[in-house]
Amino acid sequence: MNSRFTLPLYSLLALVFALSYQPKLVAQDQHTHENGQEHSHGSITEPPAHGHNHAVEQKVYFPDLPNAKTISCDFHMHTVFSDGSVWPDIRVSEAVREGIDCISTTEHLEYQPHSEDIPHPDRNRAFELAKRSARNTDLMVIAGSEITRQMPPGHTNAVFITDANPILTEDPMDAFAEAAGQGAFIFTNHPQWTAQRKDGIARYDPMHLELIEKNMLHGIEIVNEHSYSDEALQLALDHNLTLIGTSDVHGLTDWMYEIPHGGHRPVTLVFAEVRSPEATKEALHNRQTVVWFNDLFIGREQWLMPILKASLPIRVIGYQGDSQILEVELVNATHSRFTLRNTTEYTFHEDASVFMVEPQSTKTLLVKTLERLDTVELEFEFLNGILAPNEHPTIGYSLTLEN
Ligand SMILES: [Zn+2]
Ligand SMILES: [Zn+2]
Ligand SMILES: [Zn+2]
Repeated sequence: MNSRFTLPLYSLLALVFALSYQPKLVAQDQHTHENGQEHSHGSITEPPAHGHNHAVEQKVYFPDLPNAKTISCDFHMHTVFSDGSVWPDIRVSEAVREGIDCISTTEHLEYQPHSEDIPHPDRNRAFELAKRSARNTDLMVIAGSEITRQMPPGHTNAVFITDANPILTEDPMDAFAEAAGQGAFIFTNHPQWTAQRKDGIARYDPMHLELIEKNMLHGIEIVNEHSYSDEALQLALDHNLTLIGTSDVHGLTDWMYEIPHGGHRPVTLVFAEVRSPEATKEALHNRQTVVWFNDLFIGREQWLMPILKASLPIRVIGYQGDSQILEVELVNATHSRFTLRNTTEYTFHEDASVFMVEPQSTKTLLVKTLERLDTVELEFEFLNGILAPNEHPTIGYSLTLEN
């Protein structure tokens, strides 16, 4: 199937595949090796086969970038050690089953409805249990807490803390100062939550601005559970904060996100130099994230463009017969659906200008180039990509054809 590759494109794609190769994907489906044919990383060109194990099918998969590892993270969830319904080991099992790379059990420090049944004066307990249960896995478990206050400041997560206990203070400003002093990464939770903002509009009060000013607030959830907020995204852009998306799960992720039916929890994709907690924290502070929520990718241009392009490479099949119809394929190895709009003057033989690429599938496009060309420039607006409220990225692909 690779014989029709043109050389420059083949080299480019081989490079993309080599850079984006992750053992995790191949481990899901050994058959992809047999389909790999001439080049060793051919597996990524074939979506993993659909087996009977739904948990494996639904693993979160995104390629690495040429200059960074792509680390899927969920920094907001609860267990019975605050108001969640599961023991910490279940959070670990869920994450491992779903292919998540990094989690933090962020119990409410100030809200402890189960404390009569499960007394735990040491507020690090959920983290310690989760960490221990993840010891034989690749999952990174990060210490974190939810500072749970009235608005302002509302709810705030501090992750990469060293000790949860001293963050439980009388004055909320002291809690932030303590967490910041521990070197934590601190972000606003669900600023659009209707219990604290009746109009559902995320906004910052003077206290938040003071915290940002003092470097004690670094990020903001633009996605929490099932909710996305354009206003939270705008706040992040206005105040130069890291974009965060989390599950805030209290029950089971399978039920919450209908994972057996193709759903997924919101994740923050962190682009880190290496796959380690230290590098993940550094990347968070440097705002190197893209949020994946339903089929939306939300991020700054510098990270959004490369992850979209790496997630949806194009390969040239060639002109059909002696026609001027060019056949190309968009190869989607991720579990996300892409919605694209053609922004070139070419029209397609089968599709309209807006079309979808389904999860784990290869989409054939028949491009009417009017004459047989050696090079073709395609360009798509990614309607499921968000750079800012109402702003979608446009990505070009330069294709080179052999004669
Ligand atoms: Zn809660
Ligand atoms: Zn909360
Ligand atoms: Zn929460």
